[in-house]
Amino acid sequence: MAGVGLVAEAVVDLGAVVHNARLLAGLAGPRARTMAVVKANAFGHGVLPVARAVLGNGVSWLGVTSITEGLELREAGIDAPVLAWLYGHDDDFATAIRNDIDLSVSTAEHLEAIAAAGAARVHLKVDTGLTRNGVQWEEWPALVKAAALARNVTVRGIWSHLASADDPGNPSVGQQIERFEEALDIARKAGIEPELRHLANSAGIVDHPATHYDLVRAGLALYGVEPVPGVTAGLRRAMTLRARAVNVKRVPPGTGVSYLHQYVTGTAATMVLVPVGYADGVPRLLSNRGEVSVHGERRPIAGRVAMDQFVVDAGDLPVALGDEVTLFGDGSAGEPTVEEWAAWAQTNPHEILTGIGARVPRTYWGATA
Ligand SMILES: *Cc1c(COP(=O)(O)O)cnc(C)c1O
Repeated sequence: MAGVGLVAEAVVDLGAVVHNARLLAGLAGPRARTMAVVKANAFGHGVLPVARAVLGNGVSWLGVTSITEGLELREAGIDAPVLAWLYGHDDDFATAIRNDIDLSVSTAEHLEAIAAAGAARVHLKVDTGLTRNGVQWEEWPALVKAAALARNVTVRGIWSHLASADDPGNPSVGQQIERFEEALDIARKAGIEPELRHLANSAGIVDHPATHYDLVRAGLALYGVEPVPGVTAGLRRAMTLRARAVNVKRVPPGTGVSYLHQYVTGTAATMVLVPVGYADGVPRLLSNRGEVSVHGERRPIAGRVAMDQFVVDAGDLPVALGDEVTLFGDGSAGEPTVEEWAAWAQTNPHEILTGIGARVPRTYWGATA
């Protein structure tokens, strides 16, 4: 582990991220451009290193939620096209426009405020069935008309988001495509033919070619997690979370471990203290349930995960102070994967990855950042 005093790190293999970017761009096909979705600090992987690594490696667009995230890219000197898509109707659109950030429009109020703020490029988002963000279906014709009339505004994109693309055979994908086609038709009749129609997320890229259109938005898959159960695209997991043993003690049988002694040793065993806890994104649900890898062997988390630390029962393994513990990784050495962590924590890999705390330094290898 690099760095004096470093006791935990999230190691990001940018080579894997680049591999995934190229693979996804290949799946998207020559007609579609590929957007790297780098919201939430690139799903916890570090927004600037990831953005710099993927641009030019199959990726030409960056996607973020907030305008603030878009501005962070610009302040770092990244001049690739950026789309931001989630903010209040009274956000600082003038600053976004000045910084060349494309803005998504999901309500008439947003359109009005954006048009008043400057010469904007917008992507009109239509709700085709997710019932989350996006212009409500009934209001789409009126919004399209208003956008066609707004002199300051260029409609660069029309887009939507899929509800169930990661559920093979789910009929909603086809229904959303139909709705999307209808929305494009309504726009065409109002005189709007956007440069970019986009619908696909990671699961759409991997499993639904009919959703690819002119641009695909790659989130989870870019970070190496296969987005559709039962479909292996050949992605490589990019993040390894590891830490060093900061205390090691041999305890007798019958020893209670961690808060409330919810783990009691059956035999004499070596307890290894790992200095990350739920404040760092180790879910408390992994208490007495999760595993980590010690010296290449799977060992159980003993007792409660605390805010800053947890204990591993290393059995009779010869663990020394400072030895490395792998919490999760790409799985190639038998260590747990982020998908296993998600299953133990009753969540999805996205929540595990985005939950790795700011206190855990990110380190990089495998490509120039
Ligand atoms: C987060 C997000 C994505 C990426 O989704 P994945 O399923 O992780 O690929 C794409 N589009 C929108 C609108 C999003 O919010």
